[in-house]
Amino acid sequence: MIFKDITDINFNGIDISSHHEFCHEKVYYYEDQNVGLKSLIAIHNSVKGPAIGGCRFKEYDSFDAGLTDVLRLSKGMTDKNNAAQIPFGGGKAVIFKHGDKSQSLLKSFAAFLNNLKGSYISAEDIGITLEDIKFVKKYSDYVFDNVDPGPYTAKGLFYSIEQAINIYFSEDLQNKKIAIQGAGSVGKKLAEHLVNSGAQVYISDIDRSKLDSIEHKNITPIDDALSFECDLFSPCAVGAIFTKSSINNLKCKIIAGGANNQLLDASIAKDLHDIGIVFIPDILINSGGVIGLTKDLLHRDEAQIEMALKDIAKRVKGLMISSKENSISILEALNKQTL
Ligand code: NAD
Repeated sequence: MIFKDITDINFNGIDISSHHEFCHEKVYYYEDQNVGLKSLIAIHNSVKGPAIGGCRFKEYDSFDAGLTDVLRLSKGMTDKNNAAQIPFGGGKAVIFKHGDKSQSLLKSFAAFLNNLKGSYISAEDIGITLEDIKFVKKYSDYVFDNVDPGPYTAKGLFYSIEQAINIYFSEDLQNKKIAIQGAGSVGKKLAEHLVNSGAQVYISDIDRSKLDSIEHKNITPIDDALSFECDLFSPCAVGAIFTKSSINNLKCKIIAGGANNQLLDASIAKDLHDIGIVFIPDILINSGGVIGLTKDLLHRDEAQIEMALKDIAKRVKGLMISSKENSISILEALNKQTL
C-alpha cells in the first residue's frame, strides 16, 4: 500500500508542481497492489470549505494523462462551487482503470478518502455510479451518497434556458425548437421540463435504449443533435465537442448544456461569438448538481434549493445582458466579473 502527498515532489518522472495544469493546494497518490487500485486526488482550493467533486473511473494512456485530468477537473470544481455560491472548495479523484471495478477496489478507495480525513468529499463521475458511492459509504463518511445530482443539474439548466430564450428571442419556451445531445440523467430530465413548458424537444443518444426509454410523445429522437437546425442546442453528453471545425456544423442560435468542458479550449468561445452563436458556459449553468449534493450538509430544504437553482439563472441573465451590452462572449463577461 502506498499513500503519498506528491504535491511538491517528482513522482513517476513528473515534477508535479511544475505541471502545466498545476495551481493546486495538494495532490495525493494512493496505490493498493492487492486490488489493482491506483488513484489520484487533487485538492485545488479549500479556502471556502472542504474540497468536493466527483470520482472518475477511466482508462488513461499514461500517468500524466490521469494527472492532467484530475488537475483540470478539480480546478473546474472550484469554479463551479463558486458559481453555485456554496461554501466548498474544488477537488476531484481519478481511479486508473485497468480492469473491472470490483468491490474490493471501491473499499480500498474508501481507505484513500479516510486518509484525507474529510479534506476531500467525493461524489460520482464518469464510470462511478451512485450505487458505487453508496458502497463506498459503508467504509468512509467522506462521500455524498444521498442524492442523484442529475435532476438538480437539469432544473438549474432549465431555468437558465428559460432566461436565455427570453433575452435573445423576447419570447417564452412555447414552440421553441430545442435539441439535446445525451438522454442520460441530465438530458432526459431537462427534456421533460422543456416539453412541459411547450417547447418542441429533439434528443439524440448513442445508446438507442436511452431513447427507447423516453415515454413522452412530444420528445422526438434524432440521430445528431449537434448539426440539428434549432433555436437552442443543449449538449448533455460529453465534453470537448466544440472545436474550430465542429462549430461550422452548428445550426442553432444558442448553446446551453450540462456537459462539462464543452469547448476544446477557451478560444472557441470567441469563435462562437464571432459567428453569432451565443454560448452559455457550462461552468455557469450546470452547477445545480452541487447545490443538490450539498443540501443536507448545508441543512437546506427544497424551497431553499429551488431558490438557489433560480439564482443560477439570475446570474446567467446578468451575464447575458452584460455580454450583449459590451458585444463580448458570455465567457468573457464571466471572466471580467469576480464570481
Ligand atoms: P449520463 O451518463 O447519465 O448520460 C450521458 C448520456 O450521453 C448517456 O446516455 C450516453 O449514452 C450519452 N452519450 C455519450 N456520448 C454521446 C454522444 N456523442 N452523442 C449522444 N449521446 C451521447 O450523464 P449525466 O449525469 O446525464 O451527465 C451528462 C453530462 O453532464 C456529462 O458530461 C457530465 O459530466 C455533465 N454533468 C453532469 C452533472 C450531473 O449532475 N449528473 C452535473 C454537472 C455536469
